[in-house]
Amino acid sequence: MSWFQISRVAEGVYRFAEPLGMVDPSWQVYWVNSYLVVGCERAALIDTGLGFVPIRPLVEDLTHLPVLVLNTHNHWDHRGGDAEFEQVAIHGLEAAGLRERPDLAGFRKVLAGPGARPFLPKGFDPATYEVKPSRGTWLLGGGETIDLGGRRLRCLPVPGHSPGGLCFFEEETGLLFTGDSAYAGTLWLQTDDADPARLAVGLRRLLAMDPPPRLLLTGHEEAPVGASLLTDIEAGLNAALSGRAQSRPTKLGRRFDFKRFSILLA
Ligand SMILES: [Zn+2]
Repeated sequence: MSWFQISRVAEGVYRFAEPLGMVDPSWQVYWVNSYLVVGCERAALIDTGLGFVPIRPLVEDLTHLPVLVLNTHNHWDHRGGDAEFEQVAIHGLEAAGLRERPDLAGFRKVLAGPGARPFLPKGFDPATYEVKPSRGTWLLGGGETIDLGGRRLRCLPVPGHSPGGLCFFEEETGLLFTGDSAYAGTLWLQTDDADPARLAVGLRRLLAMDPPPRLLLTGHEEAPVGASLLTDIEAGLNAALSGRAQSRPTKLGRRFDFKRFSILLA
């Protein structure tokens, strides 16, 4: 079985899913998703995954067009393949993070353990695994339109999960690539760089868009998901922030469980 589960999720749109939860459930997420969006003149790769195996050859199996990487944010689980590409776009606030080598010593130890070993991709060596530093060649601020030829992605700033979080929206199809701002799983808002109240504002802005998003292509877990998830997350987040929801302590943070998702707060 190959490490990446690749599926066509819309016309010219492919999901590259990696089963992180199968090798290390402690992150409280299962799938890590990246997406390839193929236009007529070029293609966009929205996030590049964990970097366990090279993603570029798999992308080039699907398109011969030049590929621009669009990072939704700089967390290491979404930029593992950035260094394989020449053209990398990211929010200006998060460009410095791309140049950093995250400390993955603990994760490497888990990957080398008996629980993970049988599920790792062939040829993958946990001892030498790292997320390579890369460089942003196009610094975004939100508001840009990325023209792929025949299809256009609008770049929307949605800070909250991280300071320079971006979503990408294709108005014609209603596809919204959310990164980690929304997904049907455990939402990470407990980290030092998170600002949950700002995310609530960003989600409200996404909900007010005209035309509204139709389908969410999310940074983690099963996708696509119907856009009603945004409404639910916005409501859940406000309940958690205002003390109207119950939480329980976990290793990562206070966990609030809702029907289709959970929220981690510090
Ligand atoms: Zn993530």
